[in-house]
Amino acid sequence: MRISVQLPLFFSHIDIWAPNRDNISIYGKDAVDNILKFRDFVCGVFFLRGLKMGKPTGFMDYQRMENGSFEPLQRIKNFKEFHPVMEDEKRREQAARCMNCGVPMCQSAIKLAGMVTGCPLHNYIPEWNDALFRGQYDMAAWRLLKTSSFPEFTGRVCPALCEKACNCGNPVCNDGPVTVHDNELYIIEKAFESGYMKPEIPAVRSGKKIAVVGAGPAGLACADWLNRRGHNVTVYEREDKAGGLLMYGIPNMKLEKKIVDRRIQLMKAEGVDFVFNADVGRGASAEHILNEFDAVALCCGAKKARALTAEGIKDLAKGKQGAEGGLMFAVDFLKAVTKCVIATSEALEKVSMEADNKQISLMLSQQYGIDVEGKNVIIVGGGDTGNDCCGSSIRLGAAGVTQIEMMPCPPVERTPDNPWPQWPKTLKTDYGAQESIAKFGHDPRVYETTVKEVISENGHITAVKTIEVEFKTIDGKRQLVERQGTEKTLPCDLLLVAAGFVGCEEYTAQAFDVELGPRGTVSTQASYVTNNPKIFTAGDMHRGQSLVVWAISEGRECAREIDDFLMK
Ligand SMILES: Cc1cc2nc3c(=O)[nH]c(=O)nc-3n(C[C@H](O)[C@H](O)[C@H](O)COP(=O)(O)OP(=O)(O)OC[C@H]3O[C@@H](n4cnc5c(N)ncnc54)[C@H](O)[C@@H]3O)c2cc1C
Ligand code: SF4
Repeated sequence: MRISVQLPLFFSHIDIWAPNRDNISIYGKDAVDNILKFRDFVCGVFFLRGLKMGKPTGFMDYQRMENGSFEPLQRIKNFKEFHPVMEDEKRREQAARCMNCGVPMCQSAIKLAGMVTGCPLHNYIPEWNDALFRGQYDMAAWRLLKTSSFPEFTGRVCPALCEKACNCGNPVCNDGPVTVHDNELYIIEKAFESGYMKPEIPAVRSGKKIAVVGAGPAGLACADWLNRRGHNVTVYEREDKAGGLLMYGIPNMKLEKKIVDRRIQLMKAEGVDFVFNADVGRGASAEHILNEFDAVALCCGAKKARALTAEGIKDLAKGKQGAEGGLMFAVDFLKAVTKCVIATSEALEKVSMEADNKQISLMLSQQYGIDVEGKNVIIVGGGDTGNDCCGSSIRLGAAGVTQIEMMPCPPVERTPDNPWPQWPKTLKTDYGAQESIAKFGHDPRVYETTVKEVISENGHITAVKTIEVEFKTIDGKRQLVERQGTEKTLPCDLLLVAAGFVGCEEYTAQAFDVELGPRGTVSTQASYVTNNPKIFTAGDMHRGQSLVVWAISEGRECAREIDDFLMK
């Protein structure tokens, strides 16, 4: 396959062979990359970048069309992903809607009104959209992988900051942003399918050794980048599998665990070592790691959950696996569910049957003491984690699901003070809420409400007392106040707390003697280096609970800093 790089004015055509793994050896990746950089520079100078797009009128010719979804009542029958793949021609039309804007807001990641809009990885979005439109799949994958370590994760779970900023989504264009997120997923899945994603083993090793603690997206991105630079990387992970919240947080229907596993196998083949069940600072020695390695990257996440403070909690009996008489933190619940999904799927695969929700529910009850089938589930927190608990509980056969949210319901449309391209502060009805509407006939979310009291019998929760709340300014301070006389008692068998996170778990930071800041995350001196010049940090452990794309971005940036430190 050939690619045609068109330069306006004095460069009519420069043809180079497509940069796939075989042909790249003829020219070398860097040579091809430099030609593309040069092209962008020249085109940028002459304000003629748009000329290189294969279909300049695509944004007018085609309407936005996202990947479909199976109907809620159908998809809740299992824990599988539920977005069917769009056919090739249609997907390429969606890529053709990209205008290759002179100011491509999609890749900007600028802060507007206090929130970032545009891709934090600064992905070369117009380039790979165009390559996708032209059917140059290897080219698209190659440009995508330049800036993005794991597009198969972000293509599934990212809330698509790029699309919220896309110029096609402005009120004048009026037909919605380019489907950047779905295009990204299509490109990377095609790359895996076609055999493009082969292990790339560094030709030369630097002899430097780096330990990465934590195998979430930040740790994996950091390890991947450093390994590609030729360093020897060992990842220590306290769980039995890699992925962090990608594995034991985000449910299987959003990101099937075999996708995480596929990437880990590739990284292993490329030379990254993994040590599982190694809880550094408890079971595994931080001192040993510090002595053995030239640099350490702490990427342990920010799993310390905000606790519920309601009356009656102390009366709940201690249960298995953190389930106290029917009260649990959301992430512990989601992790237990995923463990059962994996265990059941593996067992069932042997007899070629589909995973069965009832079996998962039974295992959850027997092994973790968590009962969902036929029970009333209440979730504290109306955000994304709460939504994941909602979708999981429905699949496990809950009799009813309610999500309690302190904040008011956001507007359906952007308000005048929140215009494009700012991040839209609008109501999102995610998959779990859609499934609740389909199954129970109503949105699970109840706004401006909090749990005032937990009611129990024999140490197990039976109901919660809620009360409406509102924010008021009292003595110049914004305060949450209860609305008297609005108490309600709701039956409850399982109370899941998804009320946010308050920083990282301290023990790992203490084991390495690195300082924590006021937000409970590891403080850094310059960008990613801690008070110990040999120890770096990235991801949620550094910036607080955030997004997968930010974890990957931080992991890559941290790796760059480690590389500078080791090679100077
Ligand atoms: C339920 C839930 C759903 C989410 N859904 C989305 C979503 O859909 N899209 C999105 O963009 N973001 C989502 N997020 C946020 C996103 O998952 C995180 O921002 C991201 O995973 C952070 O990556 P990380 O690598 O910094 O940390 P983590 O993913 O938390 O990984 C940290 C890893 O470090 C390991 N670890 C911790 N301490 C030690 C130790 N002492 N020794 C060894 N290993 C250790 C942990 O076991 C874990 O594997 C979600 C978060 C939650 C809680
Ligand atoms: S802002 Fe939208 S239309 Fe413009 S280059 Fe980015 S994805 Fe394409």
